[in-house]
Amino acid sequence: MKSAALSTSTERLPERAAVIDLAAIRHNVRQLVQLAAPARLMAVVKADAYGHGVLPVARAALEAGAQWLGVAHVSEALALRAVSIHAPVLAWLHTTDSDFHAAIAADIDLGCSGWELPRIVAAAQQQRKTARIHLKIDSGLGRNGCTPEDWADLVNSARQAELTGSVTVVGIFSHLAVADEPSRVETDEQIAAFTMAVARAQQAGLRPVVRHLANSAGVLSRPDTHFDLVRAGLAIYGLSPFADQTSTDLGLRPAMTLRTLVSVCKDVPVDQGVSYGLNYRTAAPTTLALIPLGYADGIPRIATGGPVRVNGVTYPVVGRIAMDQMVIDLGEAALVASGGSVIGAEAVLFGPGDDGEASVDEWAAAAGTINYEVVTRISPRVPRVYRNV
Ligand SMILES: *Cc1c(COP(=O)(O)O)cnc(C)c1O
Repeated sequence: MKSAALSTSTERLPERAAVIDLAAIRHNVRQLVQLAAPARLMAVVKADAYGHGVLPVARAALEAGAQWLGVAHVSEALALRAVSIHAPVLAWLHTTDSDFHAAIAADIDLGCSGWELPRIVAAAQQQRKTARIHLKIDSGLGRNGCTPEDWADLVNSARQAELTGSVTVVGIFSHLAVADEPSRVETDEQIAAFTMAVARAQQAGLRPVVRHLANSAGVLSRPDTHFDLVRAGLAIYGLSPFADQTSTDLGLRPAMTLRTLVSVCKDVPVDQGVSYGLNYRTAAPTTLALIPLGYADGIPRIATGGPVRVNGVTYPVVGRIAMDQMVIDLGEAALVASGGSVIGAEAVLFGPGDDGEASVDEWAAAAGTINYEVVTRISPRVPRVYRNV
């Protein structure tokens, strides 16, 4: 329905566009809100909403029932406040240069794994405000988060800071390592470590109102990870975190369609080399079509073989993907069927699949990566266009 509208719409799209269906975002958020209830949903909109465009996505997610927004950087959180989004926003990945002053002034919740606490306290005291913090325990992922050994010190220090009025511990959180493989026991171990950390925090006198552990995979496959709040990113964009389940299997609708127009179409003889390195050679006289998207647009250079749909047929990319362009081999039969030329025809790399176009997952497979990376890397050179605003 949405992608049919792409080709028939009278409204002109930019010649290259990532078309974002906000109705799909709202649908996915509603699904996740239901699934997570009574836990609440934090829509994770870091990295420009995984390439979808943070402001329209944040607004759509809040409209559809998300009660929190989550980002990695303080700067990403400040950008939300700058456009008058007042929902609770958590930022969790800091450096010693992160602007805690601005974050506290803007009522942004700050993740805290240890070293940040004295700096947050100092920034809060300077402006005579109470900073809202979420203490992070490393329950097994081995990245950010306080180690279990240092946890008692952290919760005691946080409690002291609460008593002076400089912080309030709103939440305790952690991040899952293997929830995309729902049967792995490490998730059970993480739940146990997390539960223990929460108990220790309570013993120290902290009264966190939100305990949160689940990412998209946890929300979708492990109700025992939901606690009070879930942090979903990938699933709100309609993509599956699981290798063996599609978006459709999960009741999700992919929100991004990546499309352009065929820019050149020409007949070539047998043994024509194609693109840098001449790694592909035509096996017979054929017709080549040039697709004006390349690695500067965020299409991985390694993804030769990735699918491009033109006039209802899907063709693999042949030869190397270049900075601005890539080539598909239409073959003789397709050329006859299209009446000679496909110049100006819409070329769709991926979309929700309603028109038979490929999925983000097929591009991820061609690039040896995951769907997260494909959408997140679509570059600023590709305009984002919004449907069902
Ligand atoms: C990115 C991120 C999420 C969202 O993960 P998805 O797999 O996209 O749902 C949740 N929590 C933290 C801490 C993250 O960094």
